[in-house]
Amino acid sequence: MKKYDYLIVGSGLFGSIFAHEATKRGKTCLVIERRSHLGGNIYCENRDGINIHRYGGHIFHTSDKAIWKYINQFAEFNNYINSPIANYKGELYNLPFNMNTFHQMWGVITPAQAAAKIDEQRKEARITEPKNLEEQAISLIGTDIYEKLIKGYTEKQWGRPCTELPAFIIKRLPVRYIYDNNYFNDRYQGIPIGGYNVIINNLLKGIEVLLNTDYLKERDTYQNIARRIIYTGPIDAFFDFQLGTLEYRGLRFEFEKHNVENYQGVAAVNYTDRETPYTRIIEHKHFEFGKQPVTWITKEYPATWHLGDEPYYPVNNKRNQELYQKYADYTKNESDVIFGGRLGEYKYYDMDKVVASALHLVEKEFE
Ligand code: FAD
Ligand code: UDP
Repeated sequence: MKKYDYLIVGSGLFGSIFAHEATKRGKTCLVIERRSHLGGNIYCENRDGINIHRYGGHIFHTSDKAIWKYINQFAEFNNYINSPIANYKGELYNLPFNMNTFHQMWGVITPAQAAAKIDEQRKEARITEPKNLEEQAISLIGTDIYEKLIKGYTEKQWGRPCTELPAFIIKRLPVRYIYDNNYFNDRYQGIPIGGYNVIINNLLKGIEVLLNTDYLKERDTYQNIARRIIYTGPIDAFFDFQLGTLEYRGLRFEFEKHNVENYQGVAAVNYTDRETPYTRIIEHKHFEFGKQPVTWITKEYPATWHLGDEPYYPVNNKRNQELYQKYADYTKNESDVIFGGRLGEYKYYDMDKVVASALHLVEKEFE
């Protein structure tokens, strides 16, 4: 007789949602987490009354009404709208690329003038079928914006020239011929009031949790403790890297306290030149419209990733996709283990997609 119905490895959004839904259905769950805190990458650390997004600024956004309703059960969301600023060598531009940006870049006033300017630059570049990120960006938005707002940022972020990066990375960003600085196109957006820990604590209320417990280091103790395992750690680590290591882009966060009420006037400023070593500065209090007398900021430094570092962004190239597929084939022999979440599925998942994927698993598991 196994002690639990489910062992859940990892207390991020994926694991916590699964644990919550399974418990609700009368199943017994144990959640183990290798870090010293719950929540995975959405964890917040409160300092001076400010919720610091410990692993980078997180904004919840979705177009899916059911997902929005679901997540709102666990926290009340504020009306924060992400409107980052780009700083290129002291010149400031609104993001995403919209009429404000075009006006700041060229002095144009009407959408027709902006479109003509972009079209002129596109034609000069003579790109017919974009083959890489550079060509994709130029054909989307012209050379000026590419040179000032995309090239430096992207090369820092991914550690490679834009000519060697896939075009799809840049397709995440909206391009608009209206005056609208909302970074996302989604219908619903906000920050949970009180930070993301409110969501995780509500999801895991009454559920048994062990922190500082690494499943892979204590397999003997845990692998037979439950009927099934939900594993949300890196898929290659589960199989002892037998086929090789999946690559990630690393990140280093530098936290600073400043004795001013307002450091930069907005939650996110992107430094889009190549020379500034960090990609962005997050001022956390603005996510919740804080009025504290002091402030906390984080500088985000992209970094080369080495095995053992925290994995952040999956590197989506052919090699890694093929390798992932081979590991995914291995999982078919693990009938009692389910792999989920951004590390288990090696996917650049936003939070709403993680919620959807966890709920999909719940449906499958308990249908
Ligand atoms: P994780 O949060 O990574 O949770 C996995 C957990 O498993 C971790 O706590 C880990 O410690 C634990 N674990 C791993 N291995 C083991 C083991 N062997 N034993 C025990 N525990 C283990 N999404 C948005 O929607 N909006 C944003 O603005 C946004 N910003 C982001 C900014 C950055 C810098 C990054 C990196 C991501 C961002 N995301 C954003 C994505 C978001 O962080 C993820 O979608 C979400 O946190 C993934 O949840 P998860 O449960 O799949 O994974
Ligand atoms: N990007 C850019 N300039 C910016 C912001 C983003 O060139 O000021 C590019 C960059 O290549 C980045 C991609 O757009 O990797 C996606 O940006 P997003 O803000 O979605 O990245 P994330 O928040 O996921 O790091």
